[in-house]
Amino acid sequence: MTTPGDVLAGLNDDQRHAAEAVRGPVCILAGAGSGKTTTIVRRIAHQVASGAFGAGEILAVTFTDKAAGEMRGRLAALGIEGVRARTFHSAALAQVRALSDEPPGQILPSKGVALRQIANTLPKPYRFRPAADLAAEIEWAKNRRITPERYEAALAGHEPPIPADLMVNVYRRYERGKSDRGLVDFEDLLERAIVMFQTDDDARERFAARYRAFTVDEYQDVNLLQETLLRAWLGERDDLCVVGDDYQSIYGFTGASPEYLLDMPARIARTKVVRLEANYRSTPQVLELANRLVPSLGGARKVLRATRGDGPEPVLRMFSSDADEAAWLVERVRALHDDGVAYEDVAVLYRVNFRSEDYEQAFADAGIPFQVRDGAFLTRQTARRMLTALARSDATDVAALVRRLAERAGWVEEPPDGLGEQELTRQNDLGRFVRLAEEFDDGTRTGADFARDVEARFGTGEDARGVNLLTLHRAKGLEFEAVFLPRVEEGELPFRRAKSPDAIAEERRLLYVGITRAKTHVALSWVADGRRKGSRFVGELRPAGDGAAARRDPVAAPVAGGPVLDALKAWRRARAGDDGVPAYVVFHDATLAAIAARRPRDLADLASVSGVGPAKLQRYGDEVLGVVTRAADGDER
Ligand code: ATP
Ligand code: MG
Repeated sequence: MTTPGDVLAGLNDDQRHAAEAVRGPVCILAGAGSGKTTTIVRRIAHQVASGAFGAGEILAVTFTDKAAGEMRGRLAALGIEGVRARTFHSAALAQVRALSDEPPGQILPSKGVALRQIANTLPKPYRFRPAADLAAEIEWAKNRRITPERYEAALAGHEPPIPADLMVNVYRRYERGKSDRGLVDFEDLLERAIVMFQTDDDARERFAARYRAFTVDEYQDVNLLQETLLRAWLGERDDLCVVGDDYQSIYGFTGASPEYLLDMPARIARTKVVRLEANYRSTPQVLELANRLVPSLGGARKVLRATRGDGPEPVLRMFSSDADEAAWLVERVRALHDDGVAYEDVAVLYRVNFRSEDYEQAFADAGIPFQVRDGAFLTRQTARRMLTALARSDATDVAALVRRLAERAGWVEEPPDGLGEQELTRQNDLGRFVRLAEEFDDGTRTGADFARDVEARFGTGEDARGVNLLTLHRAKGLEFEAVFLPRVEEGELPFRRAKSPDAIAEERRLLYVGITRAKTHVALSWVADGRRKGSRFVGELRPAGDGAAARRDPVAAPVAGGPVLDALKAWRRARAGDDGVPAYVVFHDATLAAIAARRPRDLADLASVSGVGPAKLQRYGDEVLGVVTRAADGDER
């Protein structure tokens, strides 16, 4: 039998305080890695273990199926079974199924297909507007509970992808087509549940008798539609616990707003507000980097306070080509692996889904296992269609064949500006097939051979293990020993479509989410080649201060190679190996770079380099001076 003491063991005072408040409204407003998710899981366990609620009376809501599964797993580990942990959508679906006389209807598999047909009938210039943009616009409206009737009046400053009068028409026809076929989309499901609770007394009472306590994780990302459903669940009751971090709100584009989180104390009487200040996830070095974004994040100011010991300095690094960046990334991952970091504990985070392909290819070529969380190249419809078309082909002009197929699917060599993310992904996938086919084509092998080759190279099994490749959005709530953030560039992060100040601010929060996923190692990189350049956010990550401070600062320290630095690194690798410690324990990258820049001639000179304390001077001083002298001599010859 699980006792209340068991489920609270190991929590700090603030966390315990929140977990002990099993009744009434609780709002946990705290920064990344402070144990918010940990605390609500313990609080739920405590609600059960203390007898305040039965496990079956508790409904916990998170934003992804994976997070819901994780929560059930963690509760089970605490000996608690039977708590419902769901997403808003799956909860709404289950409720309509269980409580409504009317069946919910089949779920529309994709808005895009339905909208493509409608878009084809639009006047010429708008006919080719990607269906994904129209779908995004319809979601924009539905998440705000804006019906076609109210759409035009509700636009305010919002700009639709096609003229508003046409958009209304598309929206109306989309809704009509759907209901004619007895289908519902995801937003309809929530709307159906809301209307059921508002109009069906019997359903409302049965629900109220069944569920009595509610918890929402990542509450900063709730939108009006979800919030309305949550309020319908609660009715007049106030057994609600929410947790969130306004710095991590990254779903504004779907209508989500952190205001629901920040306003809760004003909205619900007697709300107990809990702030968690200690960060248990990351080293002080990672947190210092993340904290540099705080002045521009706005909102309720929170600075993350470290509890962990020192780790290596973050890396900020520029490259002159994608190939160089990818090669470096692969090398770093290999080195971390040699240092004992499991591949599964490494993540590469990127802004848009289709970037996964670049890293899929780089890791596949290097023989490093990887897993793509959602949206792997081969799981997307574009790739599946292409592979199906190729599966039986015995044609040997593979390059020409694939080009024809791609063009038939609408591929254009130079996609126009301003495409939505989904269409950009599709264009990119088709382009990748064309390039892969050109590389593959040797005039003897067939289209079917090509399809098999692509599958072998990019396929990942069900129980995939290895380096995690995922989008910044998907990374929310997760943590990894090492995090790589490539392509921190203008046009990518912030993404090119983010133009308004609000949109830019959301992109900055995405970067913040990315950095705060890291426990120990974090590296940001970008390509600058005249056309592309580092993100404006990189500038914000560099500390203010005088030149000398900037020179001492790891972030601003020279990162370029050079024979002295290369020699120092080789020495460090050997020395770390001899001592059986990770390389950064010998010297941080930044210290090594500072030594290389200074080229000290004696111990006093070496001691003046920041990061070289008396202990290090004594332990490594003579060796370092020897390495520097030899390498510098070689350099001058
Ligand atoms: P995010 O904002 O990213 O969702 P979070 O606030 O939900 O983060 P958690 O994921 O719950 O944070 O916790 C971060 C890490 O800190 C986890 O590895 C967790 O096990 C650890 N942790 C949380 N509380 C404590 C504690 N009291 N003592 C030690 N470790 C803790
Ligand atoms: Mg969390």
